[in-house]
Amino acid sequence: MKKKLIAGNWKMNGGLAANEALLQALLAGVGTPACGVAVCVPAPYLAQVQALCAASPIELGAQDLSMHAQGAYTGEVSAAMLRDFGVRYCLAGHSERRQYHGETDGLVADKAKAALAAGITPIVCVGETLAEREAGQTEEVVKRQLAAVIHANGHCISEIVVAYEPVWAIGTGRTATPEQAQQVHALLRAQLKLASTQADRIQILYGGSMNAANAAQLLAQPDIDGGLIGGASLKAPDFLTIIAAAQ
Ligand code: 13P
Repeated sequence: MKKKLIAGNWKMNGGLAANEALLQALLAGVGTPACGVAVCVPAPYLAQVQALCAASPIELGAQDLSMHAQGAYTGEVSAAMLRDFGVRYCLAGHSERRQYHGETDGLVADKAKAALAAGITPIVCVGETLAEREAGQTEEVVKRQLAAVIHANGHCISEIVVAYEPVWAIGTGRTATPEQAQQVHALLRAQLKLASTQADRIQILYGGSMNAANAAQLLAQPDIDGGLIGGASLKAPDFLTIIAAAQ
């Protein structure tokens, strides 16, 4: 059976002391998890987290990367630089990047491509806003977002992870119901199947107010292969409970 993946997205939170305390608590409690576990941390802390999580089941993730390999792109971080710090996963196209930093479907697709070229697994985020859901556009929006990534990445598409994160559920405490999430995950799976014979092995994560109380129900859905966790990943007991729910 396909392993699930539980990835924390710390967003722009943390600090040297707080990171160490959080990771010590996670390392003390994580044991040998049945699922993959990753934390996507702010770039300045990659070295710290790499050192603390060495030889542990907790894998390192980044939150963003440049679509360019190198050069005059002030402030950007390349996939190869992330690779230097042992980064295994990198988010691409989180809705906060799309919303506040103008990331387009095409840019997100190029970022996914840059990650794959460096041997990093992109976690490609898709999801509709509340207005789009209410206008009945959920399917159209998530399919458009994923189509750009499929188009740019061809047969490599089986190497990505997809995260469905309805924007209205992020940080709001308003989780999609397991049925709502499953419905979209099934659509995404069907779209991936048209592009790849390997689509069944692609992990499709759910994100958006996933927490210790609702994780098990969401993770029980047939096409929900893990979670991308924001707020609850900053609290060790909550994150450990979610990891334990991902059998
Ligand atoms: P919350 O879990 O805080 O809603 O955030 C979800 C998210 O955006 C993860 O990438």
